[in-house]
Amino acid sequence: MTDNQNSDLAREFLGSPASASVLGALVPREYGGLDLSHADYGEINRVVAEQSPSRQSLLTVHGMVCRTVARWGSLPLRQEYLPRLADGGMLGAFALSEDVAGSDVRRITTTAREVPGGWVLDGRKRWITFGQEAGVFLVFARAPKHDLALLVRRDNPGAYLQPAPRTSGFGDARLAELVLRDCRVDADQLLGRPGAALTHIVSDALTLGRLCVAFGAWGLAGAALSAALQRSIERHQFDGPLHRLQLVRGMLADAAVAVDSAELLCRQAALALDGRDEWALGRILTAKLAASRAATTAAAVAAQLHGAAGLVEGCAVDRYVRDARVYEVIEGNTQLLQDLIADQALARHRDRAARASAPSALILTGGHHAT
Ligand SMILES: Cc1cc2nc3c(=O)[nH]c(=O)nc-3n(C[C@H](O)[C@H](O)[C@H](O)COP(=O)(O)OP(=O)(O)OC[C@H]3O[C@@H](n4cnc5c(N)ncnc54)[C@H](O)[C@@H]3O)c2cc1C
Repeated sequence: MTDNQNSDLAREFLGSPASASVLGALVPREYGGLDLSHADYGEINRVVAEQSPSRQSLLTVHGMVCRTVARWGSLPLRQEYLPRLADGGMLGAFALSEDVAGSDVRRITTTAREVPGGWVLDGRKRWITFGQEAGVFLVFARAPKHDLALLVRRDNPGAYLQPAPRTSGFGDARLAELVLRDCRVDADQLLGRPGAALTHIVSDALTLGRLCVAFGAWGLAGAALSAALQRSIERHQFDGPLHRLQLVRGMLADAAVAVDSAELLCRQAALALDGRDEWALGRILTAKLAASRAATTAAAVAAQLHGAAGLVEGCAVDRYVRDARVYEVIEGNTQLLQDLIADQALARHRDRAARASAPSALILTGGHHAT
């Protein structure tokens, strides 16, 4: 796919010519990007996801690639890729998952064999969002001594793309599989240093990905809540609108509380990341968990209130239910996030406890000094 075709696709997919520029939202201005805050990028993700979580998923993975190249790429790599990623001339895709490596990314089996001037990759990457269209793939592989993160071009000899099965949610995310067979990649396509890929680079990219997904899930949750409320007003059964039935009101209230909570937690997480808050990571995990659950709750309520009409294949509320399920799987499934959030909660608790004991120590020291 040429740069122009990629630009056209980005414009068509994101809705208007101007909106393709959001693909450069996280790219520094010196490379033609908008250099937006995380709060602003989150808001864009939310608005796009209200209409289409599939489209929003392009913003997630493309943003993750932009972020990784900007933070971990050498100057020549940044100069080569960032202007094209910023204007949508090239779409970026994130190629981490494999058959045996899902939530546990340490299990990746794609190998990187060092040869003079570069590496030779062999393996198969699965579930790559927008892989069918992307021009460059951020690939994670394992060399004998280290793990590596490399950029692999779509036209790289030895890189073969195959469409992946269409998933029931995110059905327009154009998933692909990337087969790497004797795929030679030049040494200068390396991001960061060998050994940093599965520790620093993946976590950095996933932090952004989880924030995008949190905002996207909040957007979907909001759309589902609107559909539920509208239906409860328009549909009359038992001598009045559905919203007068007490059990329906309980469902609406649960969905509304979930959406409001998602909003507050998403905003808090984005501000924490923008402000380099030491607990930003925990706040992002919390926002992702709460927002994806809010999407599930609100979508289920909307679908239930639509009765039989909500079961018609392809109708909006049926799609909400299927898309919400994806948000609870990608960028850290709900159970994995619970585990990570528990770690964060324990760390904060210990920190608070340590701080609480610190002043008394100071007072004691101060008292001693004064005398
Ligand atoms: C639409 C879509 C788009 C995707 N796009 C990309 C992409 O662009 N790039 C990419 O690399 N991958 C992508 N993926 C893959 C996605 O990242 C994985 O699906 C995700 O990491 C989960 O892995 P898995 O599906 O193998 O589930 P598994 O890891 O097998 O987990 C299955 C279930 O086991 C439970 N579980 C797992 N771990 C734990 C734990 N630690 N504690 C408790 N329970 C646990 C959870 O209930 C979980 O849902 C995409 C997937 C989908 C559906």
